[in-house]
Amino acid sequence: MTFKELNLTTPLRNAIDDLGFEKPTPIQQESFNIIGSGKDVVGIAQTGTGKTFAYGLPILKNLPYSRQENPRVLVLVPTRELVVQVVEEFEKIAKYINVRVLGVYGGTNINTQKQQVAQGLDILVATPGRLYDLAVSRVLQLKSIQKLVIDEVDVMLDLGFRHQLVNIFDILPERRQNIMFSATMTKDVDELINSFFINPDKISIAVSGTPLENISQTRYNIPNFYTKVNLVNHLLSDKDTYNKVLLFVAYKRMADRLFEQLEERFYGECCVIHSNKTQNYRLRSIEQFENGENRILIATDVMARGLDIDNITHVINFDTPDYPENYMHRIGRTGRAEKEGHALLFSTKKEQEALENIERLMQMQIPMLQLPEVVEISTELIEEEREKKIEKHNPTKRDETFGEAFHEKKEKNKKTNLGGSYRRTIKQKYKKPKTRGDKNYNKKKRRK
Ligand code: AMP
Repeated sequence: MTFKELNLTTPLRNAIDDLGFEKPTPIQQESFNIIGSGKDVVGIAQTGTGKTFAYGLPILKNLPYSRQENPRVLVLVPTRELVVQVVEEFEKIAKYINVRVLGVYGGTNINTQKQQVAQGLDILVATPGRLYDLAVSRVLQLKSIQKLVIDEVDVMLDLGFRHQLVNIFDILPERRQNIMFSATMTKDVDELINSFFINPDKISIAVSGTPLENISQTRYNIPNFYTKVNLVNHLLSDKDTYNKVLLFVAYKRMADRLFEQLEERFYGECCVIHSNKTQNYRLRSIEQFENGENRILIATDVMARGLDIDNITHVINFDTPDYPENYMHRIGRTGRAEKEGHALLFSTKKEQEALENIERLMQMQIPMLQLPEVVEISTELIEEEREKKIEKHNPTKRDETFGEAFHEKKEKNKKTNLGGSYRRTIKQKYKKPKTRGDKNYNKKKRRK
């Protein structure tokens, strides 16, 4: 498909020509008409796929010139960097159009922004907090918003912006088009869509530039968490083969839990990233993984978005993602630049349906391997694997209290199981924390 087939207006065509783009990217091709039709849309695409223009082009094409002061399009993004980036992208394609684009974000003088808003604008790009502050101050009127775009909604929810988003929905006109982009599908994203979107069309684009032929895929059926840990321990002990390994887990708590387990055996070789870690801690973890200081990185789907690390030898899916697109995004981290990559998928009995969905999406079956005999099958279960009695009451609070007690017992048990506990205790006690993050982590460990 060419840009010509998108029937762009002449000013847009000229701007695209100036940029030197030859043809629309897949997400742009798929989004253009659907977004132009005014329907609610959910696009699953990562940064770098051209998603900003995927919504920018149809929005600009259908936005008539107006001198009214209040914005008609609102784009919400999670970070100030993204505000700047999105505004720049809009300015590039709106080069020959008379349209007013403004970016606002927190941490800067709100009064300056109020003055800018008062001058009138068409498209507002904002972080949720600052947008809300401007709206309650009444300088910013949202009654004319016709289109709402939420970009990187998975990150937004992972950073805890759900409440702010819902508050913003409340003050927007009910009749509007909702357009949402997310790199990954998560339960939170799904829930948000179901609560606030009307029958959205879903567009999904697999990671581009990652031919599946470069990636060998295998899978294991494994009964539970601890058996998965045993298998990972077994595999990772072959350090030459498992040279740079990215381990995916579905949520933060699981990431921490797995990190704790792997640290026992591979002390100083692992790092972990998820949204409860500080930005510095995350950056350091990624750097240590990238430069080979650590060969194992544990990550959640959302935090691993945009990770572009060379030479990852293996992607291990410690769990089977509920949303098959996430599997595609995960394995696309290996097998880059024509190099061969390996992807392993672990599935419990409960995860078989998710596995089938993945295989259906790829239209292929992932070859299954038998668990090596040396891998011990554990019968111990983590709380999520037990009966769900606890969740009937107050899921979050009770969950945590039970978690603590449960862990205390587990630590005790482990001491007899794993051997070498004295050395581990001494190491933990006297080791000098390498970083603040490590220090906090050790503090937490000692408390238990
Ligand atoms: P995004 O996914 O929106 O962050 O875009 C990634 C980069 O791709 C940006 O620098 C865009 O300028 C560029 N880009 C967007 N659309 C195209 C296209 N059709 N052809 C080439 N580059 C593009």
